[in-house]
Amino acid sequence: MSKGEIEVPLREPIHSKDLDPNFKNEVSDTYLGRNLNACYKCGACSGGCPVGLVTEIYKPREVIGKTILGLRDEILAGDLIWLCATCYACEDRCPQKVNIADVNLALRNIAFREGHAPKALVEQAKVMIETGWVQHPTASMDKKREELGLKRLSKRALEDLQKIVEATGFYDLVYRKKEEEK
Ligand code: SF4
Ligand code: SF4
Repeated sequence: MSKGEIEVPLREPIHSKDLDPNFKNEVSDTYLGRNLNACYKCGACSGGCPVGLVTEIYKPREVIGKTILGLRDEILAGDLIWLCATCYACEDRCPQKVNIADVNLALRNIAFREGHAPKALVEQAKVMIETGWVQHPTASMDKKREELGLKRLSKRALEDLQKIVEATGFYDLVYRKKEEEK
């Protein structure tokens, strides 16, 4: 490579056997993924993504592009969709008004249903179902609240929350209960 040239890393070739042509329809048929197919891959979303500024591996255009292309397994089993901070900055920049953050949430929903959610997120969901809080309440939290003149954490809403997670199927999803086990 001569001086001044930029080295662009090449990815492995994409094989047609790895593509699912229905994947884009599967996503765009959901409310969250509704306008996925309007993307014309300009890259404006990647240019303004704050996550992309701190890690080179994340570019929203790549997520959208691979989804349209049909790289179902790579997208759902990979890490990319879990890196989005859901800040919606990309949507302000998109000339096609693609709901990029929402498409990402649609992908997460499918990934979660198929057992690809990161372990830490599943554990956090279990804590939320069991305690009503996204992390276990501790004695030090109670002490700090007391110092600040705040009420102790209450479990009042836990029963209601548990009814919601049962009724929506979230409980079965988190604990991976299959129909036959019910
Ligand atoms: S800004 Fe919109 S049209 Fe451009 S690549 Fe991103 S999603 Fe596609
Ligand atoms: S919503 Fe996600 S993809 Fe869009 S700019 Fe924010 S972090 Fe990036």
